[in-house]
Amino acid sequence: MYCNYCGKVIPDDANLCAYCGKRVAGVVARKRLVRPRVGRKAAGVCLGFAEYFDLDVTLVRIVWAVCSLFGLFGVVAYFAAWIVMPEEPLMLSAPASAPDQAVKTS
Ligand SMILES: [Zn+2]
Repeated sequence: MYCNYCGKVIPDDANLCAYCGKRVAGVVARKRLVRPRVGRKAAGVCLGFAEYFDLDVTLVRIVWAVCSLFGLFGVVAYFAAWIVMPEEPLMLSAPASAPDQAVKTS
């Protein structure tokens, strides 16, 4: 990619421009460990890890469930991740039909 400030070619994964030293991260949305709002089963911890590490969310849930079965580590880790992982920022265009937020018509 190109630096926005000096126009030099820099590596795609660079955070700082090697030529002018300006911060260039943020042009491409950085991958962050967040709890997605859509598609979560409980707190979105497993989904967040799955998206961060590019894994199948089902696999993450199974592994996490197995860890929880064989000791308290999984449970503690889940709640720890729940607390420390920020929630995904609200999207401007929220999906019309979120599965856990059914529109109530009265
Ligand atoms: Zn630059």
